[in-house]
Amino acid sequence: MQPEFLELKTRLAEVQDLTKAAGLLGWDQRTLMPARGAAVRAEMLATLGKLAHEKFTSDKTGRLLENLRPYEESLDYDSDEASLIRVARRDYQKAMRVPSSLRADISRLSAQASEVWIQARKRSDFAAFLPYLQRHVELKHKYIECFDEADNVYDILLDDYERGMTTAEVTALFETLKRDLVPLIAAVAESPQKVDDSCLRGHFPVETQRAFSLDILKRFGFSEDAWRLDPTVHPFASSIATGDIRITTRYYENFLNAGLFGSMHECGHGLYENGVSTSLERTPLCRGVSLGLHESQSRMWENLVGRSRAFWTFFYPRLASAFPAQFGALDPETFYRAINKVHPSLIRVEADEATYNLHIILRFELEQEIINGKLALRDLPEAWNARMKSYLGIAVPDDAHGVLQDIHWSSGMLGYFPTYSLGNIISVQIWDRVRAEIPDLDEQFARGEFKTLREWLRERLHRHGRKFSPRETLQRVTGQPNIDVAPYVRYLNAKFCDIYGL
Ligand code: ZN
Repeated sequence: MQPEFLELKTRLAEVQDLTKAAGLLGWDQRTLMPARGAAVRAEMLATLGKLAHEKFTSDKTGRLLENLRPYEESLDYDSDEASLIRVARRDYQKAMRVPSSLRADISRLSAQASEVWIQARKRSDFAAFLPYLQRHVELKHKYIECFDEADNVYDILLDDYERGMTTAEVTALFETLKRDLVPLIAAVAESPQKVDDSCLRGHFPVETQRAFSLDILKRFGFSEDAWRLDPTVHPFASSIATGDIRITTRYYENFLNAGLFGSMHECGHGLYENGVSTSLERTPLCRGVSLGLHESQSRMWENLVGRSRAFWTFFYPRLASAFPAQFGALDPETFYRAINKVHPSLIRVEADEATYNLHIILRFELEQEIINGKLALRDLPEAWNARMKSYLGIAVPDDAHGVLQDIHWSSGMLGYFPTYSLGNIISVQIWDRVRAEIPDLDEQFARGEFKTLREWLRERLHRHGRKFSPRETLQRVTGQPNIDVAPYVRYLNAKFCDIYGL
């Protein structure tokens, strides 16, 4: 092997070590750290981030990547080695465009604005948050100026989360989705067949919830020697190594869904990270390829598996014995309908499978108007509320339940939201392929078996990590390179027409 390649690989491994160490500090900050550790922790994270960035963007890295071009061309495109050089070069070129002073400004502002946002949301005080949002948008424009001109400036923001995806493509997908979803949601609302979800509210001791969730997760692929499950305020999944996967969830004593489906969701993210080939460990290829593909995995385990009849054929008797007062006498079909209730609501993270996407489309549209200067930020709450009324038919009582509800904009994450719905769409595109190749999937779920599904996903998707582009990866998994809304819309229609007798 080329000595220069080994040198590059060692450098990238060290960058990765710094990045993962920061990830571990971040996990600790959000799960175990005492509150008074916050100020010093922010400095530690900034230091690690700076060291990783300096090491990665050094002239030495650039020279190695340049000198390795002939070696890369001599290798098979699919090999780990060629992929590492190719992807690292793209990351390098992108990282070099943004001056470190701008990076520092953005991360400092994010830290400040997140604190302000927490307080502003508590008091439903948009005016307090407005100057920070204004500053974020100014910095975003400076960030955009670092790159070549795009058809739509929003493309540059999107590329950070979903590489290669354009605003025009997302718009086309979301237009179809909106066209098909709005009438479905309206038909559900008018259906005489109502869904009663009162069984999901009651008394659910946290320890029992945790034990029941772990029973599920272990069948999905969670193992004590490579995973952790911890409680937190805002659930997330974090990977320190393929053999060190940390997922988090939040339990409500009086509501079952958050802890239960949150655990399955984060487990889906964890399985992706856990399934990356160990040959990619300590390289920048050792993680999921894009946020959309990542979310396709969390949504698949949460919704396509966890909200299916076949799944509950196996798990309902176990649920009933874990919470006998609540479910001992209730029939499984009532429970199945309850966990699949469609009901327009104010908060995105609590939305059902059908209305969830309208929350995303609303944010996607507003973000473009903001970044293209078509919407003044002071008018944002009004625009938000008008669109909630028009898409979901509900009135927003205050900004805490409206424009201030999500953390993303306080962290400067514009361009992130669309990936949630892209994930929903991709999940069913993959699911159709899975079902065609594993015809007895339902029978396996009904026996509590998920290994065939997990191994299929590992083989087709997870093991590749970031070796290929999102488009190339989708091609490998589904046989087609483009995201297609049709399977997702078919799935939602079939499921909710069945439940609501449409
Ligand atoms: Zn997720």
